[in-house]
Amino acid sequence: MKIICIGRNYADHAAELNNPVPKEPVVFLKPETALIPKNQPFFYPDFSNDIHFEAEIVVKINRLGKNIATQFAHKYYEEISLGIDFTARDIQQRLKEKGLPWEKAKAFDHSAPTGKFIPKSKLKNLNDFNFSLLIDGETKQKGNTKNMLFSIDAIIAEVSKYFTLKIGDLIFTGTPAGVGPIAIGNHLEGFIEEEKVFNLKIR
Ligand code: MG
Repeated sequence: MKIICIGRNYADHAAELNNPVPKEPVVFLKPETALIPKNQPFFYPDFSNDIHFEAEIVVKINRLGKNIATQFAHKYYEEISLGIDFTARDIQQRLKEKGLPWEKAKAFDHSAPTGKFIPKSKLKNLNDFNFSLLIDGETKQKGNTKNMLFSIDAIIAEVSKYFTLKIGDLIFTGTPAGVGPIAIGNHLEGFIEEEKVFNLKIR
C-alpha cells in the first residue's frame, strides 16, 4: 500500500508557513513504514529537534481505480479517519531552501499514524464537517472540510491521474492552521465532530 499526502490544502495553513496558495494540489508520498502499529507510541526520532504535528482527514481507498472522474470519486472510499502528518520542520526547511525532495522530513518511519476509521455515512456532508486535535487536553487545531482548497473527491480525481489507487491506500488531505511542535510526554487526541478517533502518546 501507499500513502498519498496533499500539502497546502487549507489557505490558512499555507499562509502560516509563508507558502503561496497552490493552483493544483501539492502531492507527496509516504511509504507503508510511515504507519504506526496499533496502540504503539510515537518515538521522537534523534535526527530532528523540531517535529511538528499536522492533523489531517485521512481517506481509505476501497476500490482499484485510475483516472477517476470527480463525480465518481465518492465510490472509491467508504471510511475516513484522522491522522497526523508528522513533519521534521527543521529538515524540511533545509530541503526546501535547496529545492530538494522532502522525503527525509516527511516520509520517515512512523510519520503517518492514523486513528480509527469510521464510515463516511456517519457524516451528513463530507464537504462540511469539523475535526480537531488536542494535545494534553488543549485544542491545538480545528478544521472544517469546507475550507479545503481541493475537496476529497477533487483530490482523488487529481492523484489518480498519476497513481493507480489500490485497495487500502490512504490519502492524507492536508492540514488546517495551527501546526506546531510536539514534545516527549505529549498526549495527542483527535476528533471527527464529537467522536474521538485518534489517540497517541509521544515517547
Ligand atoms: Mg501535511
